[in-house]
Amino acid sequence: MQQQEFFKERLTKSVGQFDITGKTLLVPDMSPFGARLLTSSFRAYGVPARVMPTYTGLALGKEYTSGKECFPCQVTLGDILYFLQQEKQRLGADFYPGDYVYFMPEADGPCRFGMYNKMHRLVLDKFPEFEDVNITYLSSTDAYSSSMIMPPEKSRLFRRLAYVATIISDVLDRVVWRVRPYERVPGETDAFMDQALQEMQTRIEQMGETRNFKTLFSLLEDIVVRAKELIDPDKPRRPRIGIIGEIYLRTHPQSNQHLIREIETYGGEVVDASLGEWFNFVAYSNLRDTKRLWRIAWKKGDVNGLFQASRKWLDYQIEIKYQMWRQDQTYARALKHLDIEEDHRIASLEKKLDNDRLFNFDIGTEAAISIGGALAYVHENYDGVVNVFPFTCMPSTICSAILKPILLEKKVPFLDTSYDGSIQPNRDLAIRTFMYQAQQRKEKREQKNRD
Ligand code: SF4
Repeated sequence: MQQQEFFKERLTKSVGQFDITGKTLLVPDMSPFGARLLTSSFRAYGVPARVMPTYTGLALGKEYTSGKECFPCQVTLGDILYFLQQEKQRLGADFYPGDYVYFMPEADGPCRFGMYNKMHRLVLDKFPEFEDVNITYLSSTDAYSSSMIMPPEKSRLFRRLAYVATIISDVLDRVVWRVRPYERVPGETDAFMDQALQEMQTRIEQMGETRNFKTLFSLLEDIVVRAKELIDPDKPRRPRIGIIGEIYLRTHPQSNQHLIREIETYGGEVVDASLGEWFNFVAYSNLRDTKRLWRIAWKKGDVNGLFQASRKWLDYQIEIKYQMWRQDQTYARALKHLDIEEDHRIASLEKKLDNDRLFNFDIGTEAAISIGGALAYVHENYDGVVNVFPFTCMPSTICSAILKPILLEKKVPFLDTSYDGSIQPNRDLAIRTFMYQAQQRKEKREQKNRD
């Protein structure tokens, strides 16, 4: 009983939403552009955040887990353990764990993602020297509101900057995927985009709390113009491959063993589902839930319930409108100069699922947008779809089961790629075969258009 009380206290008092002002916020490196621009957004608001080195601590992550956990849980656990051990070694007696807060967001629903931060707490507590490193999170339940981790007057504005920074990171990713396969000089795109990322980070941090988004959009436009110059116009367009799947695995190059580069090596042009898609999906799902609560309150004649639901309804409507407005504004700056792929609208993904009666947003999880996203790729004439996910991931397994027969029927090459950190000997062969099929499909499609 005493032990239960102890764990309860550790999981509520040392994992929570508390003011992080003045602390070093440790951010796991998920998407290379996304994690760094989020960190810069925190820094713009006075929080000394930093991205931790990633994947170097995987052995530690595996050592302190049983093997039943989701792979992203092991990778991020390894990242925090490795970072803290290195930091302790570097600072020696000056290492003070209370200076650090570990940032591990969560989502509600049937998935285990909501438990990562609790599980990481239990492991950190095995090291007496790391017990005072608190863990904080933003949660999908309130659409990743930051109102509990920074003063209220800053929180709303920070959230807006973080959203715009996320969309900018999506656009930067899409610029890389559009330019790199056609670059004149091998390696030039990566070198240029590294520098562009640093410029954008500096601009966000210098912008501080001024909300001068125009300065970010101008820099983004300038980056796109310069990136376009790297394209060799004589190189023919390649088969387009759409990626869907679990958000961490599809955006963390080390965990997916640099899948995008590998597809490019074998002749493809890739578009991965965006980070913004997830945040838009969360806001959209919260609005759907609120509508359901409103209907229940209406049926019961619950006046207070109706009032509460109506207020939330309005809040989420405003939030979604804001997100769509900012997303369109950001993409428009890039689209003026380069034909990157636009992002999918969540409402249109839901319509696709409803029309085909394949899945339903009421079931929830990332499977909803992944299945909808794959159908959208097919509709947009992509030549292949890849589902990327951690081994045993529940929503992605559902995706695979639903998508495989449909894409087979539509004759669109489809590949499942699951990861758990091990190197599978036939992986390379599977990707090469898939790319051969995608190339065949592209040629047939073009032939049909000519006939
Ligand atoms: S989405 Fe997959 S990897 Fe993520 S918590 Fe759920 S089951 Fe685990």
